Amino acid sequence: MSVIEQSDTSIFTSLESQVRSYSRSWPVVFDRALGSTMYDESGNGYLDFFAGAGALNYGHSNPLLKKALIDYLSSDRVIHSLDMFTTARRDFLRAFDEIILKPRELDYRVIFPGPGGTNAVEAALKLARKVTGRESIVNFTNAFHGMTLGALSVTGNALKRGGAGVPLVHATPMPFDDYFQQDYPDFFYFKRLLADSGSGLNIPAAVIVESVQGEGGINAARAEWLRGLSELCQENGILLILDDVQMGCGRTGGFFSFEEAGIKPDMVCLSKSISGSGLPLALTLVKPELDIWEPGEHNGTFRGIAPAFETARVAIEEYWQDRGLEESTLAKGLRVESRFNAIAASHEAAGLVPKGRGLARGLQMPSGELASRVSQIAFENRLLVETSGPEGEVVKVMPPLTIADGELDRGLDIVANAVAEALAEHGTG
Ligand code: PLP
Repeated sequence: MSVIEQSDTSIFTSLESQVRSYSRSWPVVFDRALGSTMYDESGNGYLDFFAGAGALNYGHSNPLLKKALIDYLSSDRVIHSLDMFTTARRDFLRAFDEIILKPRELDYRVIFPGPGGTNAVEAALKLARKVTGRESIVNFTNAFHGMTLGALSVTGNALKRGGAGVPLVHATPMPFDDYFQQDYPDFFYFKRLLADSGSGLNIPAAVIVESVQGEGGINAARAEWLRGLSELCQENGILLILDDVQMGCGRTGGFFSFEEAGIKPDMVCLSKSISGSGLPLALTLVKPELDIWEPGEHNGTFRGIAPAFETARVAIEEYWQDRGLEESTLAKGLRVESRFNAIAASHEAAGLVPKGRGLARGLQMPSGELASRVSQIAFENRLLVETSGPEGEVVKVMPPLTIADGELDRGLDIVANAVAEALAEHGTG
């Protein structure tokens, strides 16, 4: 394919570790990116249905955030500050409190745990253990929480777990919503183990859950299932950690993905799109009574990247003072859903399954091989769309929330054609 031939990728293939992965699916050299489009060094545009794996909800080089960043940098403001007081940190915290927490009646203390989502998860797990004096954590089938050892221990994927090189302990997986396709009542197994003193289940310090499993295959938990989980945790004195690293910051509509369920988790992990601009930033939100760490007991050099605070503040002020973004995300999500339903209906024999909530959408293919072929054909037609799920069987559609309807439709046309082509090649069309 011509776009691949044009790129000199030799330094990546010779010097960079073979652990790199996204560049294998999209082997061009990207140079510029604006809105919902990434451009390679030859100027070819690729519509982006990936959005930095959820880190670019407001699009690439969003003009409002870019301006805030340029203004910040050009006035010689602080860039690095560990956890020292800075004006940027203060302004962010004020905006987050006034615009996000207070209107939702959420009372949390903010921990800056380190730069990435996995840091937010590690901090939550550590603190839950310290607060309760217990070791064990309950996680869910097909969960993904990050690559550091604590986060990996509550992650399902066998390949990723295998990379740990040490036993991953103190975590017990339970069935996520619909794992048994409604064959059993919700929490049938979990409740039975908790109630049975002979079950061998240590009472966990916490349960960690995603309300929509992004990497796990766009599995959306029902609101009633999340409410049931929250009640179960409360009844048994178990802390509830909601990992909103990928689904927070508006991906499912509301700022937090759990708002729809009306629950108030004990701890919330945020990262990815919280800075708005793609700069690294992570937050662990904890109920005030859980905020028991000694000063410095959790630490890290990159816990206050001030330009990220600045763009985070502007993103919150620009997009979350009213319900405009939430409503447009829900409308766009329905647009994807109806298109996915139509694609599934036109290939009935293939048994495609549309999945997801808001603008986190998936189309489950009969195999990982077919989903990967869809992604490949889409790339040849200049659309970036990745796959997820235990076998990579789900075509995962997560465009910037700010994508225009016309761009969304254009990308969905490419997906529809790619699905038809992949199924036809496979003889299942
Ligand atoms: N938690 C969830 C739900 C995620 O989706 C991810 C990353 O995809 C992480 C945690 C880890 O975040 P990071 O890659 O920034 O460490």
